[in-house]
Amino acid sequence: MKKPDIIQQLGELRNKNLFREFRTISSSCSNVVKFKDKEYIMLASNNYFGLNTHPEVISAAKDALEKYGTGNVASRLIVNLDLHEKLEREIAKYKKCQSALVYSSGYATNLGIISSVVGKGDLILSDELNHASIIDGCRLSKADIIVYKHCNVNDLENKLYEFKTKYKKKIVVTDTIFSMDGDIAPLKDILNLKKKYSFTFMIDDAHATGIIDTNLKGIDIHMGTLSKALASQGGFVAGNKELIDFLRSTSRSFMFSTGLSPANTASALAALRIIKKEKSLRLRLLRNVSYLRNGLRKLGFNVGGEFQIIPLIIGDNKKIMQFQKMLENEGIFVTGIRPPTVQTARLRISVMATHTKEQLDKALESFEKVRRKLGLICVG
Ligand code: PMP
Repeated sequence: MKKPDIIQQLGELRNKNLFREFRTISSSCSNVVKFKDKEYIMLASNNYFGLNTHPEVISAAKDALEKYGTGNVASRLIVNLDLHEKLEREIAKYKKCQSALVYSSGYATNLGIISSVVGKGDLILSDELNHASIIDGCRLSKADIIVYKHCNVNDLENKLYEFKTKYKKKIVVTDTIFSMDGDIAPLKDILNLKKKYSFTFMIDDAHATGIIDTNLKGIDIHMGTLSKALASQGGFVAGNKELIDFLRSTSRSFMFSTGLSPANTASALAALRIIKKEKSLRLRLLRNVSYLRNGLRKLGFNVGGEFQIIPLIIGDNKKIMQFQKMLENEGIFVTGIRPPTVQTARLRISVMATHTKEQLDKALESFEKVRRKLGLICVG
């Protein structure tokens, strides 16, 4: 069927409350941001440790700019920096793997890994709430794709059993901390299945890097991003030497894209060193997470998740955008997330280690005020 023209499609997006617009800020994305010339408490970033403005991170980026200039100006197969290799060595050590490879985005990393490791005639088993970049990587690979129920090991096992002999090569892929739900995949249970079935196990650690230890024996492919807790840009894969050698020579999103910029490489390296050294950052984050989640629950919000991402599911595109707007009027910056990013519309609240108790209290007060104004009794 022919696609309707763009004007018609735009109209449909507006009618369904799925039209996207920017909310442009004019400051760093810290625990407070400047938006429309006013200050807002930021509850919508992935900057979980607030490292984007850490003096050591900024100074590392400045030094790299001075030494190497701005862009990498070619694929890393043509222009490779000692700085890239330093970061890869440090990531491999952090992930307790033999080797690592850095890509120019997390999205490109998932596309590159999955489309290189499996192909036509292979099978991918993918959690139903996996990130879009995993889904797109699966589609690009041309392998057969089976989606298993979210975090449901029994369903995964049934599917592994059903296709035990049909495919020679199988890969199971899952987010660790899920990006829109804040819950965690049953990694140990999936690893247990390896005793009965043969498959490659790949995790996407984008939201768990620095927050939980996912270095479990038996995970074959560790994917992660530099763009969230590490407050930079880019993605990485860690695994055994053969895997990394293979990806360097086959994964198209690595080979045919310009290498990570020097400043981004250096800032990721500095941030990684900080999260390894300053254990208190993680503790501060987890303390803030339980303060806000418990506070919301006490107010009657039925919020899910376990970690720094707190989903408040409402399921109505219009209402979620109204909620976002009313919180904005209270000085709180939270984002309503709608399909196709998620299946059911929600507010995705994310907590930072740098939020103060006063900021979290003000946020709770605002959530309560908006809930009353909207006439909602129990939300979520
Ligand atoms: N995986 C997950 C689970 C993500 O949430 C994201 C980004 N939202 C990515 C991969 C892509 O990472 P990046 O933004 O660095 O491209």
